Amino acid sequence: MEKLVNLCKRRGIIFPSSDIYGGLSSTWDYGPLGVELKRNVKEAWWREMVQRRLDVLGLDAAILMHPRTWEASGHLQSFTDPLVDCKSCKQRFRADHLDSNRCPECGGELTEARQFNLMLKTFMGPVEDTASTIYLRPETAQGIFVNFPNIVDTQRVKLPFGVAQIGKSFRNEITPGNFIFRTREFEQMEMEFFIKPDPEEEAKWFEYWLTERFGWYVKFGINADHLRLRPHEKDELSHYSRGTTDIEFLYPFGWGELEGVAKRGSYDLDRHAEFSGKDLTYFEEETRSRFRPWVIEPAAGVDRALLAFLLDSYDEDVVENEERIVLRLDPRLAPIKAAVFPLLRKGGQPEKAQEVLRMLQRQFVVAYDQAGSIGRRYRRQDEVGTPFGITIDHQTMEDNTVTLRDRDSTVQDRIAINELARVLEERIGWLK
Ligand code: ATP
Repeated sequence: MEKLVNLCKRRGIIFPSSDIYGGLSSTWDYGPLGVELKRNVKEAWWREMVQRRLDVLGLDAAILMHPRTWEASGHLQSFTDPLVDCKSCKQRFRADHLDSNRCPECGGELTEARQFNLMLKTFMGPVEDTASTIYLRPETAQGIFVNFPNIVDTQRVKLPFGVAQIGKSFRNEITPGNFIFRTREFEQMEMEFFIKPDPEEEAKWFEYWLTERFGWYVKFGINADHLRLRPHEKDELSHYSRGTTDIEFLYPFGWGELEGVAKRGSYDLDRHAEFSGKDLTYFEEETRSRFRPWVIEPAAGVDRALLAFLLDSYDEDVVENEERIVLRLDPRLAPIKAAVFPLLRKGGQPEKAQEVLRMLQRQFVVAYDQAGSIGRRYRRQDEVGTPFGITIDHQTMEDNTVTLRDRDSTVQDRIAINELARVLEERIGWLK
């Protein structure tokens, strides 16, 4: 992990937040390359979960929601973690993360566990009192539930159907850490899949989404041996859940949650109907009946997914007797798709390279580098996972071909410039 954190900082993937002030505890900023990687992770999810299906629609709800939302959802009452303090060294821990009832740092005695609410509070408007207290959402899901009637009334949907959303969530975690694994501000990719209220339907769609979501991580480069499914014990279920299975990843610090797939039943729609007094039922034509659907929810974290993709792609090998670091990222996720290099800084090569760059930039994120030996330039790109290197050399000036180098195999092919965009598109593989 240490090596990855260093690479991320050195190459502008992820920086500590507010670095010049010594950083803000467990808060991170995505740099120029990190922001591209993160956009690609979200794009990979959005394409598979929304755009390539007819039964899932997108939504982008506000982070700030009516405070009644959190009363109804149960978060005000139940979204808590058990907090204990060490009486000797004063450190704080989550009681449910400890193996014994002694302090893991100094062995000291611990206080009784207190329930600590994880929602971050702020005030709406100029007056800071209880009437103006609102919360930064701790999950994106509630934005979907409160919009259920808007979706049903405007979109001609038929069960089963899903509503998906990507956005920031906030939790006042007691013990954030492990780089971007657990932070207080993070991004989620959640989808609420509404089904008929029937245990058989529920079992079928639960299995379906577990398989889909597991497959998504593998499709975009996670080694399946580093993934496992872990059903929750009864006593660890969230207050809204009728059953949850986590998709876990083998992080350097051990197995940890990557995504949770939960059976939320009609809990959320029932509670919002009760608290808002609004009709949140669905009308089924065939049976001419009204009911509140049940829900299957795959809830993933953008940051945890990105961390897993980085960890599984990090590699060190030797090329032409020189060690290199290489991120073997799936080309679809790679922040930069290709880099263009003039072999020499003369003979019209830089101008030709600029021409190729501008042509490819219409479709792809492309870098340009003319500084240092060609070997050094390839390595700089390998380190940040750029899958293709394009070199303009003396032959280019004669026959309009370039060399196309593959990051993983380092094999070079000679390709005509007017074929480049098509070949790149094929090899990047968004069409897969
Ligand atoms: P944990 O048990 O690790 O606290 P959780 O079970 O509370 O997680 P969920 O409520 O299921 O998490 O949230 C769905 C997803 O959101 C998680 O699988 C994870 O990817 C992401 N997530 C949740 N909390 C955080 C956090 N503090 N930092 C980064 N990602 C998070």
